[in-house]
Order: sequence, then C-alpha cells, then structure tokens
Amino acid sequence: MTNVPITATKPKVAFFDFACCEGCQLQVANLGEALLDILGAIDVVEFREVMSEKWDKDYDVVIIEGSITDHHAEERIKKIRARSKVLIAYGACACIGGVNGMKNSFELDEIRQYVYGKDFKLFDSVKTRPIHQVVKVDYFVNGCPIYPPELVEVIKCALRGLPYTVPDNPVCVECKLNENVCMYDKGVSCLGPWTKGGCNSWCTSNGNICYGCRGEVKNPAKNAAAEVIGKYKLNADLIKNKFDMYNKCKEGDINGGK
Ligand code: SF4
Ligand code: SF4
Ligand code: SF4
Repeated sequence: MTNVPITATKPKVAFFDFACCEGCQLQVANLGEALLDILGAIDVVEFREVMSEKWDKDYDVVIIEGSITDHHAEERIKKIRARSKVLIAYGACACIGGVNGMKNSFELDEIRQYVYGKDFKLFDSVKTRPIHQVVKVDYFVNGCPIYPPELVEVIKCALRGLPYTVPDNPVCVECKLNENVCMYDKGVSCLGPWTKGGCNSWCTSNGNICYGCRGEVKNPAKNAAAEVIGKYKLNADLIKNKFDMYNKCKEGDINGGK
C-alpha cells in the first residue's frame, strides 16, 4: 500500500464502476453528513454518476465498484491501477465477484448464447473475476451493498495511509451481541456461521437471513457450524449452493486471497 502524501492540495479521488448494479454508489450518495465530511477532505475528480469531467493526471485514491467480466474491463482496470496510488475495492461484485460470479457456474459460450442470442460470438465475455484477481487491491469494503460506516472508516484509513483489517469473525458474533433470536430457532436457515462479519449483522438484525454477501470467513468456527448443521438437520450441499450466490470466484488471487 502506498501512503497518500499529506500536501497542501486535497487528495484526488475517483470513483469507477465495472459490471455491477451500481447499488454501492447509491450507498455513497446516501451517506449524508458523513459524505459531506469526506467531501471536505478530498477532491472528487471523476465519478460518472454525478459529473462529466475527466482527470488526466494520476489519482491519489480510486474507489472501484463491480467485477471484471470482459477483456475491455481487464485492460481498463489495469490502466486505472497504473495511475493510482491507492485502490479501494467496494461491494461484493468488486471484492469477491458477488452475484456476477454465478456466471462461472456455466460454460462461457452457453451463457453468452443465452444472453446475446445467435450472434453471441460478437460479444466479448470472460469468466467473472473480482478486482484483486486482476490487479493489486489495497483496501476491501465487503457487502452487497456495502455497509456505509465501514466505507467511511476505510476511506479515512486510505487518506491517512493506515491499514484497515477486514473483520474475520462470523456474522453470528455480531448477531449475538445484538441479542437477535437466531433464524435457525425460527426454522429458517441462515449463512451467518460461514460469513465474514463487519456489517453489524445488518440483515439478521432487521428480520432477514444472512445471504453470505461479505464472503467466507477465513477460519470458520467449524465445530459451531457442524453443530448447526447437525442440530437443524441441514444439507451441507444446500448450504454450499446458497453460499455460491455470492462466492463463486475463489481461485487466482493476485493479493493471495482476502
Ligand atoms: S455489491 Fe451488490 S449492491 Fe453493490 S454493485 Fe454489486 S450487486 Fe450492486
Ligand atoms: S445463524 Fe444467522 S440468525 Fe443465527 S446467530 Fe448466526 S447470523 Fe444470527
Ligand atoms: S448479514 Fe450477511 S447478507 Fe446481510 S450484510 Fe451482513 S454479511 Fe451481508
């Protein structure tokens, strides 16, 4: 990671999107007062959704949404990386491939034909990859969409040149601290035991299940997970299939996996 130097001018920050629904950009727009604070400390020099200006010099920080799904995107992210001191990947699409990774369950030509019809060979497409499988990523902000307080924290760390450690405890830890009744006790399966926390159990605290959008916890509490599977007579393959909705892009990490 390269520190952003403290200079008289504000750091130049750009937002870029690749294959995604742009929902994480909406979360940025919804930051409210926190966004105003951040905007006071930086110069946003490119952000397609809100401005038409382009920046022709290097960036201090780039904030990247979306996955790499064709050759053009691969070339584009490499060029952006070459011009950036610090790169933040934000959202499940950028950090782990997210829902775009479901494409990788199919033969590429099969899925191209399904989407583009008989002229599918005219349309470029490659297997879905998260950003860190193509270029080096300095910071990750997980989630679909991102959890706004975490994005603010990561941007502050990036501007100060400080590390940010992605929480690596299961969502269940935060869920229990929030004193929620477990979804399993309500007869509904939930991916919290296998999923990285850091979202303050956003979904389960609001009456929903965890869908695994922050990616797989590195050191899952295997005994606890096995206990859940045993206690509620779950099919482990079914859990894995559910997990695949966000987590199909695992191999080939330039960063060594995050
Ligand atoms: S992570 Fe989710 S909300 Fe964000 S861009 Fe991807 S699909 Fe949309
Ligand atoms: S399984 Fe889901 S609902 Fe139960 S404690 Fe874990 S995160 Fe909460
Ligand atoms: S509870 Fe699960 S699905 Fe919801 S934001 Fe957190 S990690 Fe994502």
